[in-house]
Amino acid sequence: MPELPEVETVLRTLEHMIAGRQILSVTVRWPKTIEGDPDAFAQALAGEHFNVFERRGKYLVFRMDHVTLVSHLRMEGKYYVQQPEEPLDRHMHVLFDLDDGRQLRYRDTRKFGRMFITGLEYDFSHFHDLGPEPFDEAFCPAYIHAYRKGKTQPLKSLLLDQSFVAGIGNIYADEILSACALRPGRSCRRITRHDEENIVRETRRILCEAIAAGGTTIRTYTSSLGVSGLFQNDCCVHEQKTCRRCGSEIHIKRIGGRSSYYCPVCQK
Ligand SMILES: [Zn+2]
Repeated sequence: MPELPEVETVLRTLEHMIAGRQILSVTVRWPKTIEGDPDAFAQALAGEHFNVFERRGKYLVFRMDHVTLVSHLRMEGKYYVQQPEEPLDRHMHVLFDLDDGRQLRYRDTRKFGRMFITGLEYDFSHFHDLGPEPFDEAFCPAYIHAYRKGKTQPLKSLLLDQSFVAGIGNIYADEILSACALRPGRSCRRITRHDEENIVRETRRILCEAIAAGGTTIRTYTSSLGVSGLFQNDCCVHEQKTCRRCGSEIHIKRIGGRSSYYCPVCQK
């Protein structure tokens, strides 16, 4: 499932490939991908240009001329930029014909991804109860301190809570807690000011490094390749057998229905 760095990579890759392009027409092949009326969706986007590329949490936000196009990839959503004569497969659910003759294709084998349109000036700061972006000043130790007050949930659940901070999923939550030497099952009540500072710093560092790693792959994308973001090869604990720091065996614990990987030696 794409998390913030993958969504950011997809966004910047698409910006690189289709910025300024005009949509001539839209074909919706699986109507449930569209929230709202698919015909109205297609009509509203015909003639619009891809002007500004933004991200909010795990949402891709495209500011057009008169509307904003919003897309959430969920589990398996991917974008392709291809020539119209390239064969379509049955998982390609939305097609955007572009003014340079290419086609932007949305492919989703699980069909969980969604897209919709909203007003051009729509303010995403309070969108869907999403918390601050990890790189916003609002995400700071004092904010964590205030947010966790009176709460007892595990740290892992706190990081996955999109209203606490936007964009972090299972992989990066495990990696952030590993970098902070905190066990995922530790109650968010039992951390210090120092831990709060570490969480802010390590969240930004890890996401930055992941975005940078994804960014380097942009050059290798061509018009026929899927844009799916990077897969993590450099994790210290997530889906690892042994800890990259100390070599100890990694433990797995189910927290909030998700598998959490941690090192029992490095993380307290
Ligand atoms: Zn370790």
